[in-house]
Amino acid sequence: MTFYITTAISYVNGAPHLGHAYEAITTDVIARHMRQRDPDVFFLTGTDEHGEPVADAARDLGVEPQQLADENAARFREMVRELNVSNDFFIRTTDEEHGRLVQQVLQRVHDNGYTHKGLYEGWYCPRCADFKVENEILDGNRCPIHFIELIRELEENWFFELSRFQDRLEQLFDDHRSFVMPLARYNEARAFIDSGLQDISLSRARMHWGVPVPWDPSHVFYVWFDALLNYYTALGYARPDEDLRDRFWPATFHIIGKDILKFHTVFWPAMLMAAELPVPEHVFVHGFLLGADGRKMSKSLGNVLDPADVLDSYGVDALRYYLVRDVPFGSDGAVGIDGARARYESELANEYGNLASRTIAMIRRYNDGRIPGADTDPELRDEFEGLVGEVIELIDAAEITAALDRIWQRVRRANRYVEERAPWQLAKDPKAHGELHRVLASLAEAVRVLSVLLSPYVPEGAAKLLDALGSPDLSLAGAEFAQRTLARPVAELAPLYPKR
Ligand SMILES: [Zn+2]
Repeated sequence: MTFYITTAISYVNGAPHLGHAYEAITTDVIARHMRQRDPDVFFLTGTDEHGEPVADAARDLGVEPQQLADENAARFREMVRELNVSNDFFIRTTDEEHGRLVQQVLQRVHDNGYTHKGLYEGWYCPRCADFKVENEILDGNRCPIHFIELIRELEENWFFELSRFQDRLEQLFDDHRSFVMPLARYNEARAFIDSGLQDISLSRARMHWGVPVPWDPSHVFYVWFDALLNYYTALGYARPDEDLRDRFWPATFHIIGKDILKFHTVFWPAMLMAAELPVPEHVFVHGFLLGADGRKMSKSLGNVLDPADVLDSYGVDALRYYLVRDVPFGSDGAVGIDGARARYESELANEYGNLASRTIAMIRRYNDGRIPGADTDPELRDEFEGLVGEVIELIDAAEITAALDRIWQRVRRANRYVEERAPWQLAKDPKAHGELHRVLASLAEAVRVLSVLLSPYVPEGAAKLLDALGSPDLSLAGAEFAQRTLARPVAELAPLYPKR
């Protein structure tokens, strides 16, 4: 079973912000977890570089669109690196190979008879690069996302005959209730389909910043079709020596924000059907991050959380942990620097970090730095029974926040266990050495299991702890709480999450 997961690609008319970071981090958590089960995972992210918003932004800056795209794509690539994101490839839609494959697929859609030339008249948002249908238009002909006035467009376009996919999309939604997750988003997409599908523009005649239409080169493809195809084209050239499309297509999960639901859950599967390609298994729609005051983040309100502030003060694990822990995946959530600090101090430092430090320190102090080869305590072992299975089941449903909560309950349980057993008391009593060995072995096993399960969320800290334990294996097959530990030495461990 292969697993292919993608973020949406980021639009390069502006710089990366917290929303981009959030999507990259949450997708990375799932990708890292899946690799712990089977290494045959492919994780794609990248940048969306064509279309009017980029051309307009470049003109305003007095530069060529390619130059703006190059500059901002580099910033997105850097963001992904700073966030410790484990993507297997970074696609740019200005890649030559991408353009060539877009032409191939859409030529097939054309050859299959799903296109026609016609006059488009309707309302267009240049910021969304989206033609709005009647029920999406606010009073005063404004965009429901940008609140700017829409432009009345009249031009001769190529159309994609979306209306002919009405039945097949209804069937897809009937047969695959988990095609769109969570359920509220499934219902929203389903309602859009049920309202009746109309044909949509496939090309623009007056735009030049895009992929030329091979059968009518005076047109370029409408940027959304070019962009959506990245998920498929990337597999065709990500590895110079192997075409990965047979192995990884269709995608298992597309992770997207709720503002681009219609494109991914209606247009995209229809286009794939028109090209006779399989449709993705799941589209998971996450929520928006709001300012700590619960309002949309904006510079004028002063409620913007800059990811760099959290990275600089608390490190990359802290940002990853905070956003996944505080915002239930799939819902909107309010975030701010105070919340990030609180989670860092009370949970990463005082709970997980402290558990790690005291476990290693006690093994060094009371057993010459060796994990005792001893049976583990059934009382603690029972608390971990079934945990790996619970985490797997939750992450299969993209429930990364709920999975983290289950793991964290055991972090807290292990800390209570230290207090209950008080190894520092046992160490004073020569008759209690057997019990001391059992407690130390149990704690070493608990922090090992916890670190394996936490590594998708906090890869830096988890790796340091597992190294100190001499047990770097991240596979979930080895993550069950063992009946008995093998004697082995531990290394010194600096605080994982020091006081700031
Ligand atoms: Zn808009």
